[in-house]
Amino acid sequence: MVRKIVKYGETVLETAAEPITEFSTPELHALIADMWETMYSAKGVGLAAPQIGVSKRLTVIDVSAGEREDEKIVLINPEIVFEEGSQTGEEGCLSIPGFREPVTRSAKVRVRAKDAHGEAVEYDAEELLARAVQHEADHLNGILFINHLSTLKRDMIRRKIRKLQKAGEWE
Ligand SMILES: [Zn+2]
Repeated sequence: MVRKIVKYGETVLETAAEPITEFSTPELHALIADMWETMYSAKGVGLAAPQIGVSKRLTVIDVSAGEREDEKIVLINPEIVFEEGSQTGEEGCLSIPGFREPVTRSAKVRVRAKDAHGEAVEYDAEELLARAVQHEADHLNGILFINHLSTLKRDMIRRKIRKLQKAGEWE
């Protein structure tokens, strides 16, 4: 089921999410299925549970955007255990539609997490995947990409969003 993606301004997006403690449950499998469906329908390459209003440490990533099945990654309770280098690239967010800005992040990361069955998984990521892992892991800590911008830029985006909210164009 495609869920509604919550937009910037909702508290859940700026709240640290709770760890998942029960694995292999029908509820968890259904939640993950909904997240894939919602992400693909929004043409995103990553989605974190808080973005559908669920404050749990769960994210799905597919930087191939549905092209390659083996690039689908589910990260539950992820932890970035190693980072190296730096990369700067344009970033956007399904919860902040219409805004894209360059963000500097680590070039390479290693992430440890659990899969849907509670099995430990580990991925070494670079380039776009490393960016997506960092962006999605941030979501689980209530951090958005605009938090990585200068105060000036962030305030400008916030002002534009407030205007859209007032006009009823930010639902
Ligand atoms: Zn995002």
